[in-house]
Amino acid sequence: MAKFISTFLIAFLCATLGVAPLSAIAKTGASKTQAEAIKPIRILIVPGHDDEVWGAQYKNMKEASMTLALGTQIFNLLKKDKRFEVYITRNSNGYTKDFADYFTNHMDEIKSFKQIAKTQMAGQLAAGLFVQKKNTPHASVKEIVADRLYGLNKWANENNIDAMIHIHFDDYPRPHAWTIGDYKGFAIYMPESQFPNAANSALLAGNIFAQLEKKYITSTYPEEKGGLIPDQKLIALGANDTLLPSTRSVLVEYGYIYQKIFRNSNTRHQAYKTMADLTTKGITNYFFPKN
Ligand SMILES: [Zn+2]
Repeated sequence: MAKFISTFLIAFLCATLGVAPLSAIAKTGASKTQAEAIKPIRILIVPGHDDEVWGAQYKNMKEASMTLALGTQIFNLLKKDKRFEVYITRNSNGYTKDFADYFTNHMDEIKSFKQIAKTQMAGQLAAGLFVQKKNTPHASVKEIVADRLYGLNKWANENNIDAMIHIHFDDYPRPHAWTIGDYKGFAIYMPESQFPNAANSALLAGNIFAQLEKKYITSTYPEEKGGLIPDQKLIALGANDTLLPSTRSVLVEYGYIYQKIFRNSNTRHQAYKTMADLTTKGITNYFFPKN
């Protein structure tokens, strides 16, 4: 049953995106964001993983370097538009000073933020106020990685961030990570509908999806069918109710790390440019729809 609901939801979202004109999506975005448009929209770009725990790897390509290359381009494009105030968590030296300091100086508070959120969610589950659904499987993360992700949510809430954009490249569990895998294409994860930031995040995800879809196929991995995936488990999206309703969050898996387009350095760099352009266009369309 849970599976049916989640499949149905994905199908519904895709149908909405496929059938409804984009302007309809954009208009809904407008009514939600008109008041916010007076002051700059605050965006946090999160290039997935870091130099210590770099995520997926194919031969000498590490996911963390790829997400940094793409994330930096999105950051630079958005920064040119004065309607946005843009932040990024990492640069080529590692975490930027703001984030490195935040993790160092506030780790105890981050840990208690995480613990309180988990306890409250357990209470909600027990009371039947939150219903667990079938979730796409994810690799479990080390405690330090989880703590940093909860730290980013805490920081985003405290700093009135309007949207977090998490950038990733995909892989899936298979016997030999050095072989070329079977799946390809992009997928966008967004908070499952019971989370307070779900509705706004889904519209943002839809706008980015509509752009990426112009150039790239959606994931052929059955668990990512349709390419727009509601999720309850990803900390990045506000798992355990850790993001405010106004803090939209989406996690984009731009493709499978071993895909031919990424294996060749020229096509990889061209892909970063195209993906950055399309993502920026999707974000801009959502916050500033053209009438
Ligand atoms: Zn990743």
